[in-house]
Amino acid sequence: MELHCHSAFSLLDGASLPPTLVERAAALGMRALALTDHDDLGGIVAFAQAARERELEAIVGAEITVEIAEAGGRQRRSGEEALTHLVLLAENREGYGNLSTLITRARMEHERGRPRVSLETVAAHARGLFALTGCPRGWVPSLVARGDLDGARHAAATLRDIFDGRIAIECWDHALEQERVIVPHLMEVARTLGVPWVVTNDVHYAEPEGRMVHDVLCALRHERTLAEMGTRLRPNGEWYLKSPAQMWRRWRQHPEGLLATLEIAERCAFRMENLRPSLPGFPLPPGVSADDYLARLVEDGARERLRKRMRTQDGESSYRRQIAHELATIKRLGLAGYFLIVWDIVRFARREGILCQGRGSAANSVVCYCLGITAVDPVKLGLLFERFLSDDRQEAPDIDIDFAHRDRERVLQYVYEHYGREHAAMVCEQITYREKSVKRDLERVMGGSIQGAGLPLARLPRHRSIHVGGFVLTEEPLASVVPVEPASMEGRTIIQWDKDDVEAIGLVKIDLLGLGMLTLIQDCVRYVREARGKVVDLAALDYADPAVYDDLCRADTIGVFQVESRAQMSTLPRLKPRSFYDLVVQVALIRPGPIQGEMVHPYLRRRAGEEAVTYPHPSLEPILARTLGVPLFQEQGMRVAITAAGFTPGEADALRRAMGSKRSRERMEAICEKLIDGMQRNGIPVEAARRIYAQINAFADYGFPESHAASFALLVYASAYLKHYYAPEFLCAILNAQPMGFYSPGTLIEDARRHGVEVRAIDVTRSAYDTTLEGIAVRLGFRLIKGLGPRAREKLERALREGGAFQSIGDLVQRSGLDRRALRALAEAGALDSLVPDEPSARRRRTAVWRMLEEWRGSAGALAPAHPKLHVPTSVAAMSPREITAADYRLTGVSVHGHPMTHLRALLAENGVLTARAAHMRRDGERNVGVAGLVICRQRPPTAKGFAFLTLEDETGLLNVVVTPKRFERQAELISTAPLLLVRGTLQVEGNGRVVHLRGELFRELKADVGADGVRGHDFH
Ligand SMILES: [Zn+2]
Ligand SMILES: [Zn+2]
Repeated sequence: MELHCHSAFSLLDGASLPPTLVERAAALGMRALALTDHDDLGGIVAFAQAARERELEAIVGAEITVEIAEAGGRQRRSGEEALTHLVLLAENREGYGNLSTLITRARMEHERGRPRVSLETVAAHARGLFALTGCPRGWVPSLVARGDLDGARHAAATLRDIFDGRIAIECWDHALEQERVIVPHLMEVARTLGVPWVVTNDVHYAEPEGRMVHDVLCALRHERTLAEMGTRLRPNGEWYLKSPAQMWRRWRQHPEGLLATLEIAERCAFRMENLRPSLPGFPLPPGVSADDYLARLVEDGARERLRKRMRTQDGESSYRRQIAHELATIKRLGLAGYFLIVWDIVRFARREGILCQGRGSAANSVVCYCLGITAVDPVKLGLLFERFLSDDRQEAPDIDIDFAHRDRERVLQYVYEHYGREHAAMVCEQITYREKSVKRDLERVMGGSIQGAGLPLARLPRHRSIHVGGFVLTEEPLASVVPVEPASMEGRTIIQWDKDDVEAIGLVKIDLLGLGMLTLIQDCVRYVREARGKVVDLAALDYADPAVYDDLCRADTIGVFQVESRAQMSTLPRLKPRSFYDLVVQVALIRPGPIQGEMVHPYLRRRAGEEAVTYPHPSLEPILARTLGVPLFQEQGMRVAITAAGFTPGEADALRRAMGSKRSRERMEAICEKLIDGMQRNGIPVEAARRIYAQINAFADYGFPESHAASFALLVYASAYLKHYYAPEFLCAILNAQPMGFYSPGTLIEDARRHGVEVRAIDVTRSAYDTTLEGIAVRLGFRLIKGLGPRAREKLERALREGGAFQSIGDLVQRSGLDRRALRALAEAGALDSLVPDEPSARRRRTAVWRMLEEWRGSAGALAPAHPKLHVPTSVAAMSPREITAADYRLTGVSVHGHPMTHLRALLAENGVLTARAAHMRRDGERNVGVAGLVICRQRPPTAKGFAFLTLEDETGLLNVVVTPKRFERQAELISTAPLLLVRGTLQVEGNGRVVHLRGELFRELKADVGADGVRGHDFH
């Protein structure tokens, strides 16, 4: 029995994780343990879960920080002294709500990291809580320690009144003289007031060895080295969990202090399992239930979205059946309100013109499709609803929605405002100590050298940040369910639980994520409308345009969602997608999992007809035929269990979860047995059954939800379609959505130019901050110029808005108010060229720089005396085309004055170096082929066993280079850093000339004055 115990969620104080404390307590034969972290309930869910497994009573509590106003006229020596500790334990649900609310107020109403509440606040939230007077920093014991016994009695009486007698005076023995002096006085206070006194050990670590970690944490808290800590460290290691026998030996003279713990433990009966937070309600029309309302909306949606497909009798009945099945499940699980809320958020986004689309398993639901939450028709694709929701599932379903990332903040604000800040907050991400941070922090406290390395700081919580998109909503005030605290980001609040905690408690979470591709598509569609007066209706795409698939088969996919990486591009010409489902496979196939599981090549061989399509058992053909017998999707694993072993869909989902990331051996063994039994009952021989089990088991780790792949495949097609038909608008949108995707603006522009897009230079008389369209030519925007940040943007946009385009350099300097550095960047990037019409074009930039400086000096006048007098030269040297390209790349990363390689082409051609396009025409196995280009991508993926991959870009296109580990080692420095490379090697051509690699053998750096800063290449990410 221990009523006062800290875990590592008492940051920089407690040294053990909650499950470790539970393990130890159980091993010591304790029956109950309270967790009482400092102003925190972040560890309570893991604590309760571990305790349930070990059949330990998990008492819920916290040690809160209470600010005491000056009492009895006694002078405080410092502000710190007014902060006291008080341990609170939850007797019931109301008490838990009060505890959570107190912690929320302690954190929300004070600066981050300095939680505290007033005694009045405690009094307002005391019901259902049992109080212990706390450690020596408690109000009562600190007064005793000062010798103020009257004050201590008075303080104890105040607390007794606040908690209506539900209080005990805490006593401890850590073999300290000071404690032994005050404990008898504390007992005396208890006797005088007629309240019990109780023994705790104010535990800070599970076992005695935890002392060292605790000391390190304390040193980190004080930002001192251990050596400097001196007496600030606890003088001994007594703050561990002690066995009942040990406690009994120490306190046998006063057994009433131990007996009191039993009584208090009995009273504090609240358990986390009792929490059961309720779903938020959705405002309904009078007299209509949430289920009826949902059914009505689904019916409307079905009429709108499924009209065509429901025309036939068969079609109609299969949709009707599925809708009825899903609605019945939703009703049984009481989730209608949840679906209505998600529908409402999506409706808001639509109204505001914010593109959004559900991802993940929600795309398995026709209800989600009818509500417009997802864009995939699961009936048409034959998706499995139970991957999303089933009767057997304990947790609330997970609905993830992507929004155009630029507008996501507006959606979040809508949720806060519409559902109330008291009912909405974001899930936290618990950042733990990792190897690197452990080492750094240990070095700090050890004062340099770390002999003590290996100290188990790893995995302890370090701080909290915001989870990418998880929102929780509750019916009752959220603060009464889980403490809410301010996030580091202004205006955001987070709860003290992470997504695993939220799932375990059954809190409803909605993931509202930002996706750059949706911003791109949203902008592109708008540009098409503005530039051509054409409306592209994404919902009406037929996903069958041969021209779009031709591009994909050619790997002409720079900028296309998901399939633009080197690995994707080298697979596309082999997979040759010709239908929407091919894209679903493509998205799921080229990922680390299937690559590691060696699924890729069997699939591609089968697709190419080089290998027979076989099945582990004929009964599985209908399930695996869609992926040529190679299991790729989680849903397939579930269907195998349903068809071959007679599992219910819910059991199949349980199987999937058991095989997921957190495997437990016992659970797996039980399920394996059940699966093989079931298959044998269905007449599958045991040998085949074992094979099937092994196959499901092998791919369960990395199988992709088919529904998720389908949602993403829609975006693959949409982006490929827009790129094919509206290349200028596509380029404009992708440049404005940067940073996103795999390629730098330079590569995107080169690619667009090769597709016939006219790209025009940045020009202060025509450009805006963003890239814009002039007809269907693309005018680059100021945002590409490095170093023109948000402040320069504001100034430029204001000047353009108020006075129109700049007429002269003087006008620009006067009206924009930009500083010299920004003006210079504009001039050097060629943006002022059109303001120097009197000069030949090769001299304009340098002339513009001088004239700008002159104007700037004139305008700055006496304010700039420190700058030496300008001597404007009468004539400046002309820049060569190569210098112009180099300046462009240096300042903007892009150039409309020719790719760097064009300036070297004549020289290269003399030396027999081919262009990328020419190399693609050569034969397989040709030796000593030379190609040169800008290295736009360097990769050495961990799956590639030391092989490195480079992508070279020249004025004609891209070429991939493969480097063996041995050759890489030999020239690692050069290959890893040179911006421009000349590579010679042997050509490898596969798949009817569609996939071409150069096996690099010789590498040489080229100089074209394009620095490494000119490209954002993906260097070994
Ligand atoms: Zn304390
Ligand atoms: Zn404590």
